[in-house]
Order: sequence, then C-alpha cells, then structure tokens
Amino acid sequence: MQVPGIHTLSLDSYNYSTYHPADQITNWMVEVALRHPDVVQLHLLGQTYEKKNILYLKIGNRSEQPKKIIWMDCGIHAREWISPAFCQWFVKEILQTYKSDAKVSRYLQDMDFYIVPVLNIDGYIYSWQTNRLWRKSRSIYPGNACFGTDLNRNFDSAWCSVGASRDPCSETYCGPRAESESEVKAVANLVRSRKADIVCFFTIHSYGQLILMPYGHPDKNASNFKELLDLGLRAAEAIKKKHGTTYRVGPPSSILYNNSGSSRDWARDMGIPFSYTLELRDNGTHGFLLPEEQIEATCQEAQAGVMLIVESVHAKYFSGATALASLWLTITASYSHVFHYSDLSHAIVIKS
Ligand SMILES: [Zn+2]
Repeated sequence: MQVPGIHTLSLDSYNYSTYHPADQITNWMVEVALRHPDVVQLHLLGQTYEKKNILYLKIGNRSEQPKKIIWMDCGIHAREWISPAFCQWFVKEILQTYKSDAKVSRYLQDMDFYIVPVLNIDGYIYSWQTNRLWRKSRSIYPGNACFGTDLNRNFDSAWCSVGASRDPCSETYCGPRAESESEVKAVANLVRSRKADIVCFFTIHSYGQLILMPYGHPDKNASNFKELLDLGLRAAEAIKKKHGTTYRVGPPSSILYNNSGSSRDWARDMGIPFSYTLELRDNGTHGFLLPEEQIEATCQEAQAGVMLIVESVHAKYFSGATALASLWLTITASYSHVFHYSDLSHAIVIKS
C-alpha cells in the first residue's frame, strides 16, 4: 500500500538523533504503521484547538484475550523537544526488539502500548516557527489578553488550586475551566473509556532529570505511595546504570514544586495504579534547548527506566497462570523444532 507523498520517506534512514518538525513526525507515524501492520495501528485521538489531528500509535499483538494498556504521551509542553524525540525512540526500540526479545514479545501479547508522540501539536509547530520557548497550547478565549493554556494544568484534578494561574498571560494558565482544552479533552475521553485496562500512565517532559509520581498537591497522597516510590527508585537506578545520569524520584510537592491539574495526578485519580511524569535531561545547563548530540544518550537511559517500570507492571498483572501460559507459548514457539508440544506438558504446571 502506498500513501501519496510519504512513500519517499524511508523508515530505515529516519534519524532518531535529531529533532523533527510536526509534519515529519506525522509522516513517520504513518510509515511505522504501514511497515508493521501486524503490531501497529494508527488511531485518531482527537483534534487540537487549530483542528490538527492528534494521532497515536497502538502497538501490540491482536488478541482475543483482554489486554492491559500502557499509556505514553509526549510533547504536552511545546518547547520540550526531547519529549517527542523520546516517544519516537521508544517506538523504534519496541519495534526493533519484539521479534528477538522474548520479554518484549510477551509485553505485546499481553499489553498494548498507546503512544502519543506529539500531544500539543499547535504549540509544537509554534515553537518551531515562531517562538522556540513556547510552552502552552494556542487557544484564545474572548477577553483574554494572551494566547495559550498550560495543558498540564487543565486536567480535572484539584484543578487550579495550587501551582497554576488564572492569568491568561501566565505560563501556567489553567484555562477557563477543567478540561476546557480540546487536547486535554481528547486524552481524558480516551483514558476514561479505557481506565479499567490502563495499568500504567507515562507523560514525558523536560527538563530536570526527575521521575515524578502523584501528587503535585501537598494535601493529596497516593494510596500506593510506597509502591510508586520503590518502583520509581528502581527505574532511577536503571537510568543511572546506562550513562551515570542521576534522576531524583518523588511527588512534585516534595522534590519540585506544588502543582495541580496535571495529567499524571488526574490519571491516578482515575484509578490508574502507576502514573509517572519523566522530566528528561538536563539539569539546566541547556534546559529546553538540549543539544541534539544528547538525544541518543538521553533516550537510551530513559528507555532503560521506562522498560524497568513496564517489566514490573507486566509482572504484577500477568504473573501466575497468564504469565505461564504466555511463557508456554514462547517456549513452544522457540523450540518447536526440538520438542513436541506433549514433551513439555509434564514440565509446566499451570496454576490458576
Ligand atoms: Zn513540561
């Protein structure tokens, strides 16, 4: 199948160590879906204020069994260019390894990854064309002196109570009401409709080298605080092992600043057990203007952290019978040339 205008873009020569404008990322998404029809589907999440399509990639094997979902969105803040770069890197890694890596193969059997490479497309384009340091959306409301709502202050979780502003000219303007922004509504609608299946919610930002967990509001505490913290600390260890980069872990109210209306907190409110914000490199030397030379190492270490969390979440929901059945399939598929199915039947006892 050929799609006019995109067949000249070769996935094989796509450069994951450079920043790409929005239209190139869209073409890349189409190409990825066309190249991997067995495991990738391209879906419409919704539209931006300027009526641009927000697309996401659903990555996983087709299955008759109920599957869990891992969510990841990038580019909610326009100027954090390393974030969309990471979503693309993450997809590349999954697709390069799922056939050879038994773990990744099992993830795609049991779970679907929903990846939004650029959520705030209007803002992202504006940051490429007009103002490199633009953060917010590009919406405007009657009577407001300035453009843009901070999409990560517009979710319906303690909305606009702390660390957010009602001044439309502020960088952290929370919008006229919770979920006023079409980009936020698009995420919220999908997450609400699948909240029983989403087990992990990642939202990718820069900068600061942090793994943030709920909550940003100082009076709120996640019921699984310790579990979130322990897993976050293990992810930070995995990150450090890669290139020695230090990430700090905790709720924003403890290690960054109080905030409200973030997607991470809202996702936890919805009952999604694991919800994390990753603030990627660096610590302020370059800030939002992270040089392209650092994209690869930044993505490699973040990949290690995210995959550690994915592994742990997968083990939690697919241990016991399901995991064994899954392992069975992998073993029988891998060794079918050596063993007959019946040879293995005495070796694995499936417990319910
Ligand atoms: Zn951000």
